[in-house]
Amino acid sequence: MHVRLNVLLDTRDHARHLQDDPVSFVHRFVDPLDAELVGLLSSSLAFGNVKAVRASIARVLLVLGEQPARTLASRSELELRASLSGFVHRIYRGADVARMLANAARLQRAHGSLGAFVERSFADHQSDLRRTMSALATELRGNAPSRGLQHLIPDPHAGSACKRLLLYFRWMVRPADGVDLGLWSLPASALVIPVDTHIHRIAQNLRLTDRQTASWRTAEEITNALKRFDASDPVKFDFALCHLGVSRDCPSHRDESRCASCTLQTVCRHWQSTAL
Ligand code: SF4
Repeated sequence: MHVRLNVLLDTRDHARHLQDDPVSFVHRFVDPLDAELVGLLSSSLAFGNVKAVRASIARVLLVLGEQPARTLASRSELELRASLSGFVHRIYRGADVARMLANAARLQRAHGSLGAFVERSFADHQSDLRRTMSALATELRGNAPSRGLQHLIPDPHAGSACKRLLLYFRWMVRPADGVDLGLWSLPASALVIPVDTHIHRIAQNLRLTDRQTASWRTAEEITNALKRFDASDPVKFDFALCHLGVSRDCPSHRDESRCASCTLQTVCRHWQSTAL
């Protein structure tokens, strides 16, 4: 399995997949303060159709300009809200995004950066990622969050997979490799894989989990299984595995034609009857 996963990492066309991935927006910004804000925005809106997601991120970035941290530092939540009037992405409204960004800017002012806040929380919570994420979510939501804001920034303790928040942490924490950026000083070994429908199905194909729901426990189970192959950086396989699903290359059933070129075929449950 380890060998096949590494072959997948080495052979997937990361540059092509990066173009459609929301993390590509983050790569446009050099200043870490801008990049962590755009990462928050891009990951939290990564919900739904790829084209719609990209259009929504681009719409907010028009408001934030070329220096999002500076723009946010100089605008009140009310002004942001007015700039995003009419913005809608799924169940999110401009007011939800304005509140999240205004709270993110407040954290940057108070702690120097979102990364500094996260690193301190991680230390304060005895290196517990879930509690660290929960502390960040609480700050980003603020008081009496709307239903949209609660969905935009989920509470990791509610049990859901928190895919978008975990995606954000992957981007910020994993070492820079052309996809992830390595801006925050947390150990990559502490990360939990963001589980969307693609990762869930492919993890089932590879017998990394047999859980039927994409919950936080499922994410932990898949991560623990991946730690057998790299305990220091188990989530490094996420981008390649996810895009195997996003690109529709994996049918998640035995398909002579589509599975023929899959590097995981020898370790896929659809092509074998015994456990690995
Ligand atoms: S062998 Fe086929 S079903 Fe299995 S992971 Fe590869 S593409 Fe998906």
